[in-house]
Amino acid sequence: MTTESETAVRPVVEIKNLHKSFGDNHVLRGIDFTVRQGEVVCVIGPSGSGKSTLLRCVNLLEVPQQGQVLVRGEDITDPDCHLDAARQQIGMVFQQFNLFPHLTALVNCTVAQTTVLKRKPAEADRIARANLERVGLSEKITAFPAQLSGGQQQRVAIARALSMDPALMLFDEPTSALDPELVGDVLTVMRKLALDGMTMLVVTHEMAFAREVADRVVFMDGGVIVEQGPPADVIGNPSHERTRTFLRRVL
Ligand code: ADP
Ligand code: MG
Repeated sequence: MTTESETAVRPVVEIKNLHKSFGDNHVLRGIDFTVRQGEVVCVIGPSGSGKSTLLRCVNLLEVPQQGQVLVRGEDITDPDCHLDAARQQIGMVFQQFNLFPHLTALVNCTVAQTTVLKRKPAEADRIARANLERVGLSEKITAFPAQLSGGQQQRVAIARALSMDPALMLFDEPTSALDPELVGDVLTVMRKLALDGMTMLVVTHEMAFAREVADRVVFMDGGVIVEQGPPADVIGNPSHERTRTFLRRVL
């Protein structure tokens, strides 16, 4: 639901005519889309269609050859942009959890707070504990990654990202590396975040999740957005044959 005052607010992310190639592999072929405050957008599409590349362009982990990426109105592709400040507004959760193996769950969640945001240790500790509680891991704060299940590690990764107070959370197939019985706990945490109003851009193959949680579903194929809209349309009643073919394979 968007009110008039909200539409006046700048979108959290605005992508305009984005092109990205690796050598002569033209991976993103003119992507335009917007994520508004509080929106949950799920990106679906076949393997190799450019979903991860798109997500990585949003925080300039990949540098596009053409087009603009605006984060809250600031063009992060502009060489004069203060990229670190823009990146601090974006939390990212990967398929592989990328935790620091030699640090406890708690310290995984405090280290960037103290080094990057210059928070005092006591404050960082309080925020980390609150976020570990939010993902259901209060009991595990002293555990090291190797002592945790994949689902627990991914929830630490989410708590770590949340501890930086991001304006936007990017998720790249956060449950794809998990054993099936561990997927539900991570999706439950993400569902809760969505209900709390977090702005989220999620690449996922979990169609039930996308259907239930997404405000909008974006279907990508061959480096373009083939269609986007409410999940009931894109997943429930797609207008394009390419979307139908993809959904027949994954549903
Ligand atoms: P998806 O996430 O939809 O599976 P990707 O964005 O990972 O797709 O990949 C899209 C295409 O870009 C693929 O052809 C892949 O091989 C290529 N690609 C992705 N990252 C790189 C890279 N760092 N170097 C070269 N090619 C890449
Ligand atoms: Mg990918």
